Amino acid sequence: MDLIKTLFLKATFNLGIYSIFHYINRHKITILYAHSIIDIERTKSSCWQPLRTQHNTKELYFTLKTLSKQYQFISLTTAIKILKKEIKPIDNALVITLDDGYLNNIEAAAVIFSRFNIHPTIFVSTDHTENNVPFWFDRLDYALQQIKENIFTTELRQEKFIFDCSSRDSLKKSYALFRNKIKSDFDCDKRMRNYLKQLSTEIELHTGKALSQIIEQDNYVKLASWQQLKYAQQQLNFEIGSHTVNHARLALVDKKTLDNELFESKYRIEDKLNVACDTFCYPDNSYKSATEKLVKEYYQCALTTDTQLNKVGSNMMRLKRFNLPTDQNPLKILFKVSALRQFYKITSGDD
Ligand SMILES: [Zn+2]
Repeated sequence: MDLIKTLFLKATFNLGIYSIFHYINRHKITILYAHSIIDIERTKSSCWQPLRTQHNTKELYFTLKTLSKQYQFISLTTAIKILKKEIKPIDNALVITLDDGYLNNIEAAAVIFSRFNIHPTIFVSTDHTENNVPFWFDRLDYALQQIKENIFTTELRQEKFIFDCSSRDSLKKSYALFRNKIKSDFDCDKRMRNYLKQLSTEIELHTGKALSQIIEQDNYVKLASWQQLKYAQQQLNFEIGSHTVNHARLALVDKKTLDNELFESKYRIEDKLNVACDTFCYPDNSYKSATEKLVKEYYQCALTTDTQLNKVGSNMMRLKRFNLPTDQNPLKILFKVSALRQFYKITSGDD
């Protein structure tokens, strides 16, 4: 199957089909996103490794080098101007965005971005930034890996959920399953975050270990401080956007909370960094039409993780993005974010 896919991909490129689609869609804007980007050398001495898959700097360099042959890197600010028809389109424009505000985006990845003259936008959740408080998915990831027993059971909405801690692989599967379940089980963001806080605390008390004890030295999940963000913005051409105050799922909050998450995060970024904060990114891709209306009052655009290219006329409160692709085969990287792939998806009804 893999061989057929590779042959199909080669043919697509050799016959010029990719190039035709790339040319036809040259005025559309591609936006990519990544989260934590680790430098493998720096994490070699680390006492743990997150279960969630991470990007690394080696892959990042290869991907950007590959993309640089087909795209022109632009900032999100320039992309907004193009989408609002304030300036002329730039052919095959591509924007890099970074979610959550991890310090390694600055310490490990910035040097690679500057090699390609990329001005990325980093989206921060201000309460986490301010206090270097790990996100629940990182805190729980670390906590689960400290469990010595083969299983750990928790009650989730009156149902038992069993984490299989017998091996790294099985825990990885359990944790992925758990994160999916969390998404569907809660209709209130606050209740969800309280439950997860309780669960992490319970495990931490049981094992006597917590991510908060090591986060200051951690290269995977430590968050950038205001000072580091200011440096990135002033010296490394980063743009700073909002990702709410608490990494809240906005489709699952009341109106007052929604307003606070949107306004407070914008206000704090502008106050601490002395820059305008006009761009927003929905945590966990959680939004609904009521969310969009209010986001529009504070921001010029809002980014989702729905996959597509963006064009003049696209809903600015629902801009589309692709996960930063990684592969050893450059053709696969190009195909993953291409207009051609989107065409195949639409025609085959697969999304
Ligand atoms: Zn996020």
